[in-house]
Amino acid sequence: MSEFESQPDMYVIAHPCIDVKDKACVDVCPVNCIHPVDGEDADQLYIDPTECIMCGACEPECPVEAIFIVEDLPAEWAHFEKINADYFLK
Ligand code: SF4
Repeated sequence: MSEFESQPDMYVIAHPCIDVKDKACVDVCPVNCIHPVDGEDADQLYIDPTECIMCGACEPECPVEAIFIVEDLPAEWAHFEKINADYFLK
């Protein structure tokens, strides 16, 4: 397992997604890097930082405004960058 490295321009899904999991973002992602696709077995959806091409297509689609680039994350949700990355280390 490699050390977690912050990427300021990476897209991540934050707290508003918890228990919402609308999946509008999944439908528009051109590289299918938002998981789990079925929304099952997870509290929220996550963006795979190794697959995301940072196109930004998902961000305006989220009905609860849960998607941010890392440098725009509200301070109270800064830890969601690591939460997204950690989901894919399982
Ligand atoms: Fe997918 Fe683009 Fe959003 Fe990355 S920024 S999760 S590639 S839609």
